[in-house]
Amino acid sequence: MIRSQFGKAKPKLRKCRICPTRFESRSMAHVVCSPPCTLELAERKRLKAAAKREQEERAAHRVRKQAAKKHGEWEGDLQKLVNKWVRVVRDVNEPCISCGTTKTVQWEAGHYIAVGANNTLRFVLDNIHKQCHRCNVQLSSNAIMYRVALVKKIGVERVEWLEGPHATNKISIPELQAEIARYKGLIKLADKEVA
Ligand SMILES: [Zn+2]
Ligand SMILES: [Zn+2]
Repeated sequence: MIRSQFGKAKPKLRKCRICPTRFESRSMAHVVCSPPCTLELAERKRLKAAAKREQEERAAHRVRKQAAKKHGEWEGDLQKLVNKWVRVVRDVNEPCISCGTTKTVQWEAGHYIAVGANNTLRFVLDNIHKQCHRCNVQLSSNAIMYRVALVKKIGVERVEWLEGPHATNKISIPELQAEIARYKGLIKLADKEVA
């Protein structure tokens, strides 16, 4: 308001931050037209601050939770993603590896060498194939039929390699996290290709 000292400048009207009213603003900080709008503005600021605080708390909680996560939980997270990728991407058009059915109550991904028998092979893709619920759970992987089909699918050498001895190889948490990110990306990519 430089010209106001000459008494000629017209007061500048400003639109209220809350309602459609145009009012005479006395300063940069004067942004609402009336006491009710002042209250409303304060309430909106309060809600915004509360939402921001809540968001920050949620983020901190997430960080704490990830930091407290045990090695076995990271392995479990990765296993879910690897299994899903086998089921919905690599083997999507294949029947159950063990019995050949194309119908099941629920498609699963089953290990040829069980996770409990050898932890090192739990993420090895040759060891994981799409299976029907019956073979995977009720028939404990239906191993004999699994082997027959697996030899046809990947060849006897790779099957024998799976069956051979394996040094215990514990994957570190950062490596598991990197693999989790990679599989998430692969699954997302496949989703896009289908859509
Ligand atoms: Zn107003
Ligand atoms: Zn089956």
